[in-house]
Amino acid sequence: MRWKEELLQLTPYQPGKSIAEVKRQYGLEKIVKLASNENPFGCSQQVLDKINQFAGSLALYPDGYATDLREALASKLGVSETQIIFGNGSDENIQIISRALLRPGFNTVMAAPTFPQYKHNAVIEGAEVREVPLINGEHDLEGMLKQMDERTNVVWLCSPNNPTGTYINENKLLSFLKRVPQETLVVLDEAYFEYVVAEDYYHSIELIKQFENLIVLRTFSKIYGLASLRIGYGIGSEKVIRALEPAREPFNTNTFAQIAATAALEDQAYVDMCRQRNREGLEQYYHFCEQEQLSYNRSQGNFILIDFKVDGNEVFQYCLERGYIVRSGVALGFPTSVRVTVGSKEENDEMIALMKAFISEKSPLNK
Ligand SMILES: *Cc1c(COP(=O)(O)O)cnc(C)c1O
Repeated sequence: MRWKEELLQLTPYQPGKSIAEVKRQYGLEKIVKLASNENPFGCSQQVLDKINQFAGSLALYPDGYATDLREALASKLGVSETQIIFGNGSDENIQIISRALLRPGFNTVMAAPTFPQYKHNAVIEGAEVREVPLINGEHDLEGMLKQMDERTNVVWLCSPNNPTGTYINENKLLSFLKRVPQETLVVLDEAYFEYVVAEDYYHSIELIKQFENLIVLRTFSKIYGLASLRIGYGIGSEKVIRALEPAREPFNTNTFAQIAATAALEDQAYVDMCRQRNREGLEQYYHFCEQEQLSYNRSQGNFILIDFKVDGNEVFQYCLERGYIVRSGVALGFPTSVRVTVGSKEENDEMIALMKAFISEKSPLNK
């Protein structure tokens, strides 16, 4: 078979071990997963109630236009219904954008390390990938501008950035957007938008009105606690959305996802509670890092990247064997770090105790 050559250089996504698998392998009763930035509190009870009351038919295709959700979201955001595209998670929106704009002979610019799906999709489409290293965990916007030329079709920004948790402030983003050529689509991935508390964060929706070549990606997978249902959305100018729509599969978001997302939007008190608890959790980790003199970035997301100055896999393995699943920085481009999702207060306490135990047993800092 004549496969796309680009595919041959890629490896399939390696899913982390499942909770059941870890239980079995290490003979553990309790497993806490703080590896994928899921919401430790789950989703709103109102969402579960709505799903339980579902009286529709599983035999019917979902609403390909996601009408109810679209109306609710457009009115909440103050944009027109034609300015929104729904995806089977942000992952699919990234794929749709790549499919629509990337191809051999063109290039795409992104930070490194950042969310891996931008590069993955660009490689499949045969576009040249230009990666610009982060500086102290933050996007180097000036460096990214320098990498752009008349063949740059997409530039990816991740704010807050996964895996560092850093964000782009309003002044920097504005100055960047003003200098990006009209022909380049700027994708601003805001998967953690609802967790942000920084005061100099920009107003994404205002920026969309100002810059026609900007699309903002958000998701119900993170603060809304609906990762299993796979639903996310892009907001952009009507022109951008209309151009992308044919690259979207007609029934890409399912009925349950649409119902759940609509109900989730209605419970903003739940979102506020999660944001608040997340801030408290981050403070626990900051305190721990300072006590142990570990370097870290302050995070606007629901995760923290901590540098242990040893092989990240070793920290990962130590925690895994004791029932705590975190993400090793090795696969994330930070080989001596681990990324920990902020959990409930108790989970954070236990996680921190475990990391302290690791340091006193294993760290060369103590030898
Ligand atoms: C989790 C995440 C996504 C994927 O979100 P889904 O909606 O679950 O596909 C996209 N971008 C970033 C930065 C993420 O962290």
